[in-house]
Amino acid sequence: MTPDEFRRHGYATVDWIASYLERVESFPVLSAVMPGALRAALPAAPPEDGEPYEAILADVERLILPGITHWQSPNFFAYFSANASPPAMLAELVSAGLGVQGMLWATSPACTELETHVLDWLADALGLPEAFTSRGTGGGVIQDTASSATLCALLAARDRATDGAATERGLAAGLTAYASTQAHSSVEKAVGIAGLGRAHLRLIEVDDTFAMRPAALDDALRADRAAGRTPCFVAATIGTTSSTAMDPLPAIVEICRRHGVWLHVDAALAGNAAICPEFRQFQDGVAGADSYCVNPHKWLLTNFDCDAFYVADRGALLRALSILPEYLRNQATEAGAVIDYRDWQVPLGRRFRALKLWFVMRSYGLAGLRQHIRHHVELARRFADWVRADARFEIVAPVALNLVCFRLRGDDAPNERLLAALTDSGQAFLTHTRLAGRYVLRLAVGATYTTDRHVEAVWDRIRECATALQP
Ligand code: PLP
Repeated sequence: MTPDEFRRHGYATVDWIASYLERVESFPVLSAVMPGALRAALPAAPPEDGEPYEAILADVERLILPGITHWQSPNFFAYFSANASPPAMLAELVSAGLGVQGMLWATSPACTELETHVLDWLADALGLPEAFTSRGTGGGVIQDTASSATLCALLAARDRATDGAATERGLAAGLTAYASTQAHSSVEKAVGIAGLGRAHLRLIEVDDTFAMRPAALDDALRADRAAGRTPCFVAATIGTTSSTAMDPLPAIVEICRRHGVWLHVDAALAGNAAICPEFRQFQDGVAGADSYCVNPHKWLLTNFDCDAFYVADRGALLRALSILPEYLRNQATEAGAVIDYRDWQVPLGRRFRALKLWFVMRSYGLAGLRQHIRHHVELARRFADWVRADARFEIVAPVALNLVCFRLRGDDAPNERLLAALTDSGQAFLTHTRLAGRYVLRLAVGATYTTDRHVEAVWDRIRECATALQP
C-alpha cells in the first residue's frame, strides 16, 4: 500500500467507523450468531495473492459485524462497560501509525515520558496521594488490564515479604493473601500465577452492604501468623464487580500497617468516579495503600485497553520485576536517569497507550470527564428510584455509583426468565450476578452514548417483560 493508497483507504475506514457509530443503536446489542458461524464463512486458507482493501473492509461489514456484541451501543448495560470515544480511537490510530514498541525509555523517549506525565495528571485529577506520582517515591504505569496490575502488585508484595527470596530463589511455602468474598476473580488468578497457591487466598466475609469486614480480616491475619505462615498481600476493592461495594479502606489500612502486609486497592471501575470530588470519599485512606489501580477503559472514555496502576514505592516493584540482559543495555538506562517501563510490568514490549489518555484528557478536559461520570451516576440513581417505586421489584445492594442491582421479589426463576427475555429482545443487554445467594440483575450505566432516553426505554422494557411473565 503506497502512502496515497493508505490515505484513501484510511479515510474510507474512518468513514466506516463513523457510520458504525451512527448505526450502533440499531443493532441487537448481544450478537445472536451461533458458535462456529464466522469460521464456517471464512476460507480455509489465506489468499495466495493480496486482495483489494475494499474487499477486506466490505467483509468487516458482511462477516464481522453480525458476530459483534455492541459494547458501544447506548443500550449496553452489561458487566462494566468498556467505553470508547472518538479521541481515544484516533489516538489508537496514531499509536498504530507510529508503531512504537516502548519497552525502554531509549526505544522512544516520548512514549515513556508522556505516560509518566499523563499518569501524574490522572493521579492528581483523582485526588490520589503524592507518593503515587513521579514527584513522590512511587509512580504510575499503564497496564493492559486490572488483572495485570493486581498480579504485578502481588509480585512486588511477595518479593517484599520474603526480602527478595521469592524472586531469586523460588517461593517457600507459607505465604498467604487476603481479599473479600466479593473481590474480582483476577485476585485468585494472580495468587495462583504467583505461586502462592489458590488455597492460600483467604476470602474474607462481607457485611450486608457486601463490603469486607475488617475484623474478619484481622482475625484471618492473626490466625495465619499464629500458624507460622507469612501474610503478604491484601486486596481491597473499591467498587466490587457484582455490586460496587466499597471495602472500608481506613480500617483495612490500619490492619495492614499493623501486620506489615502489602495493601493493593482495586478500584478498576469506581476509581474513575474519583475525578468528581463528591465521589472521592469512597477512597478515603488510599494514602495508606501500597498500590492502586483504576481502569480508564471502563468509564473514562478511553478505549480498551488502559489500566492505570500506581505504586507508593517504585523500588519494591522494580526489585521484583527488573532484569537487564546485555542486549537491552543502553546509556540512558545505565545512567539511571530515566524510567524503563519494561521493569514495571510482566511483558517486555509495550504499546504507546498513553496517547489515548492524553487525547482523551485534552479533548474532554477534566470538566467534560466529570460531567460524563455525573450524568451516568444520575441516570443510575433515577433508574433505582423507578425500581423502588414498583412494588414487584427490590433493590438488593446500595447504589453507590452507576450500577443498580435489582430483582423481582421472590424466587430466582422469574428473574432468570426476565433477563433472558430482555436479552433476546436485542433491545438491551444486562447481565446478572448472585448476591447473598440470590439471582440478581445488574444494570450498569457506562457506555459512552447512553443517555436519558435509553435508560427510560430499558426500564419500560423491563416492566413489560415482568408483566408478560406474571402468571
Ligand atoms: N477488578 C474489578 C473490581 C473489576 O470489576 C474487574 C472487571 O470488571 C476487574 C478487576 C478485571 O478487569 P480487567 O479486565 O481490566 O482485568
